[in-house]
Amino acid sequence: MTEPVIYDIGRPGLCAMPFPAPDVPRAPLPDGMVRDELRLPEASQLDVVRHFTRLSALNHSIDKGFYPLGSCTMKYNPRINEDMARLAGFAGTHPMQDEEVAQGNLHLMFTLQEWLKEIGGFAGASLQPAAGAHGEFAGILMVRAYHLDRGDTQRRKILIPDSAHGTNPASTAMSGYSVVEIPSDSRGNVDLAALRAACDDHVAGLMLTNPNTLGLFDEHVQEVVDLVHGCGGLVYGDGANMNALLGIARPGDLGFDILHYNLHKTFGTPHGGGGPGSGPVAVCERLAHFLPGPIVERVDEGNPSLVRREPPEDGDLTYYHLVMPPKSIGRVKVFHGHMGIFVRAYAYIRMHGPDGLRRVAEHAVLNANYLQARVGQWFPIPQRDRICMHEFVAEGTVPGSDVRALDISKRLMDFGIHPPTNYFPLIVHEALMIEPTETESKATLDTFAAAMAQIAREAVEQPELLHQAPHTTPVSRMDEVKAARELVLSYWNVKQ
Ligand SMILES: *Cc1c(COP(=O)(O)O)cnc(C)c1O
Repeated sequence: MTEPVIYDIGRPGLCAMPFPAPDVPRAPLPDGMVRDELRLPEASQLDVVRHFTRLSALNHSIDKGFYPLGSCTMKYNPRINEDMARLAGFAGTHPMQDEEVAQGNLHLMFTLQEWLKEIGGFAGASLQPAAGAHGEFAGILMVRAYHLDRGDTQRRKILIPDSAHGTNPASTAMSGYSVVEIPSDSRGNVDLAALRAACDDHVAGLMLTNPNTLGLFDEHVQEVVDLVHGCGGLVYGDGANMNALLGIARPGDLGFDILHYNLHKTFGTPHGGGGPGSGPVAVCERLAHFLPGPIVERVDEGNPSLVRREPPEDGDLTYYHLVMPPKSIGRVKVFHGHMGIFVRAYAYIRMHGPDGLRRVAEHAVLNANYLQARVGQWFPIPQRDRICMHEFVAEGTVPGSDVRALDISKRLMDFGIHPPTNYFPLIVHEALMIEPTETESKATLDTFAAAMAQIAREAVEQPELLHQAPHTTPVSRMDEVKAARELVLSYWNVKQ
């Protein structure tokens, strides 16, 4: 990197922040609290502002440009969500405050639980898990608790289609189950014959992503669910792709027993930087007692722990309190989960309303099908004959050229576009998984299509241009293996 960094701009003695005079007597710091060996930069406030403003623009983000990163739902996050999450009453509450003085927060959490039940068609919900993968883990622990509670101890296997996200087998293994992979058929559905053969009384459940990571709604979802239920297993739904279903189909109605939501994907929290997220789980009636807790419950006759209570002026005795479901798998998170994301999801759902949520899904699906038709002019699409849901997977290959998906993705960065998801799902050769989301205009989709057309031409005419891309970013083609294995996190280590 040739650009100046804060350590070089700074000078000893400069200070960005005037500290207020202390209002308590000065006292020496305890030994060991001041570490003189740390080479912290000293810089003026302007230097610091410029430093961080420059850094903030180096990375790509949804606020800078198109971000069709498949399966991640990089939609525009309405600014109203941020305003709501920063309201002092939400942002300033401490999780150890008494229920009595946190009724507004609990009301919001309760309402969000209710909405998530309604949207997915479920009987219970818990907001505890911190992200999608964490929701999976909680979900599989519930599967386990359910079988053990019935004295059904011989179930050891969780069935997972080969198109699944890597977190599915990881959550399964962490819960102590073994993974049985189920192949996909030629149309991208779960292979029913293979599933039938795997279904026996050792099956604890199936983890199904629907629409799956090929962007396809399983054409036999009812048979899949019935086969698993038929052998005594439960059906877990990976809800990362709920953006395709909102207001149109409810996993609970399809027979799913558990579903996690990725609030940060579907309901408008920025998540390009890796978190925090939120992965609530919703369940059918027979699993409600096993939910991770505490969850929020509403009492209509006032605070149950107070013997006498002055009726409030408006006569409304509604009271919210935290309860542990009777057979709960326990806590999976400190305190109550990620409140800031609950507020954003609440604001998002409230703002859209039921009809608006349905339009989100309709436009997400429409945009993906439009792009599938355009991109399919230049790149192979294995499931072209099918209508995709909110995303589709193309092959990053061009006849007569040796370019790979990675080259195409890197070249897209020169157009100010974030690459699609690469090499996932694993069952598509040179996979490029493209998810435009509902928030992009036709003009943006056309710009992307034009970039793909140009890249397809370049792949034949000047393949080196693609092999060496990107050309316009602060850092060009990296040795990604070396970058992952020999991560250097300290500036001083680079300098020395
Ligand atoms: C994103 C995703 C996950 C994991 O969710 P996180 O919130 O990132 O933990 C799981 N499955 C699928 C299909 C996903 O797209």
